[in-house]
Amino acid sequence: MTIWDGGAHQQPAATRALRRALAADEVSHAWLVSGPSSVGQQDLARALTMALNCDASDVPDEACGVCDRCARIRRGTHELLEVQQPAGAAYVVDDVREGWIRPASRSITDGHRRVMRIVAADRMNEAAQNAFLKVLEEPPPSVVWLLEVEDESVLLDTVVSRCRRLTVVPWGLDALRTRARDLQVPDARVEAVARVALGSPDRVGQLARSDLLAARDDHLALLDRLATEGPGTVVPMAKELTRWAKAQVDPIKQRHAEELSRYEEDLGVDARGRGWPPGLKKQLQRRHERIERGAQRQALDLVLDNLATYLRDLLIVASGGSDEAVVNVDHLDDLRRDATRLPVRQVVDGLAAVERCRDALVRNGNPELQLERLFLALSLPLYAAAVRG
Ligand SMILES: [Zn+2]
Repeated sequence: MTIWDGGAHQQPAATRALRRALAADEVSHAWLVSGPSSVGQQDLARALTMALNCDASDVPDEACGVCDRCARIRRGTHELLEVQQPAGAAYVVDDVREGWIRPASRSITDGHRRVMRIVAADRMNEAAQNAFLKVLEEPPPSVVWLLEVEDESVLLDTVVSRCRRLTVVPWGLDALRTRARDLQVPDARVEAVARVALGSPDRVGQLARSDLLAARDDHLALLDRLATEGPGTVVPMAKELTRWAKAQVDPIKQRHAEELSRYEEDLGVDARGRGWPPGLKKQLQRRHERIERGAQRQALDLVLDNLATYLRDLLIVASGGSDEAVVNVDHLDDLRRDATRLPVRQVVDGLAAVERCRDALVRNGNPELQLERLFLALSLPLYAAAVRG
C-alpha cells in the first residue's frame, strides 16, 4: 500500500510523471492537469502534497501516509493543500488575488511546500489569467500549483507555456464497479452507480453515501411526480429541492463557524469582537460565503445531473435502444413507464431545459425560480399527454 494507490492508481501516466519529478527533485511550480473533472485529481493532489512534505519517508516520491501531517493532508484538513472552486461562472481577478495568491504566500508553519489545487482553472476570465500570470513569472519557491482544466484552449498561451502538463483520463467501468463495492454500495446498486458515474470515481464516492443515493431516487422520480400530481406540484417541488440543496451546505457552514472561532481564540478576540487585525475577518467571511455558494450550486448540479441522465436514458428506451446503453439500470421499470408518457420530441426539449437551468445557475440565477421554470417545462407536455390519454 502506497500513497499512490487508490485514485492515483487509475491515472498511471500522471502518477508516473509526478513520481519521476519528485524523485529527481524537479517538481515544477505549475502543472496543467488536463482531462475530465473528478477522475482522481484529488487523490493525485493529496499524494503529491504528502510526498513533498512527509518527513517520515526516506524516499522522495513516497510518504508514510500515517504521520500526523500525512493524515491531515489525506483528510483534506491541512493548510499545505489548498483547494479552490469557482463560486460563479468564472474566476475573477479578486478570486486570484484574495483567494489564491494570499493563502499561497502565507508562511508555512508545518511542512515544506504548499500545493494549490485550482479546480476548473479553465474558468478564469482573461483578467484573472493576467493576474495569475504574475505568479507564474515569479513563482514563490515553496508553492506548487495544480491547474485542473477540461478545455485548455481557453487559457492564454502565456499561461499554458509556463506549466508542465499532466493528462488524466476517465475511469473504466470495471474500476468504477470495484470502487463502488469497496465503498459498500449495496450489491443491487453497484452496476447503476458505476454507470451513472460516467468515468468519475468522485461520483461513485458521492453515490456511496446512503443519503445521496436516496436523494438520487427522489430526483429520478421527479418526472413521475409531475405526471401524477400535475403542474400544481411545480412550485412546492422547486421549494423542496432548493431546501435540500441548502441543507447540503450545513456541514460546511458548521466547519466555517468553527474556523472563525479558532481564529478568535488564537488572536485573543474579546467578547465584544475586538482583537481582529484590520480586514481579516471580512476576508475570511468572504471566502466562506464563496465556498458555501459553490457548494450549494454543486448540490443543485447533482439534481440536474440525475435528471439529465434519466432523460437521456428515457431517449434510449423510448427509441427502442438497447438496455446496455442505459445508465440508470436500477430504474428500468420506471423508465419503461415514463417512456410511454413522454414523446421523444419532448424528452429532447426536456434535456435542453435542464441545460438552460444549469447555465442560469452558473450565472447565479435564483435557484428556486430556475427550478420552477425547469419543472414547468417538463410538466406541461406530461400534463397534456395525461389529459389526452
Ligand atoms: Zn508522513
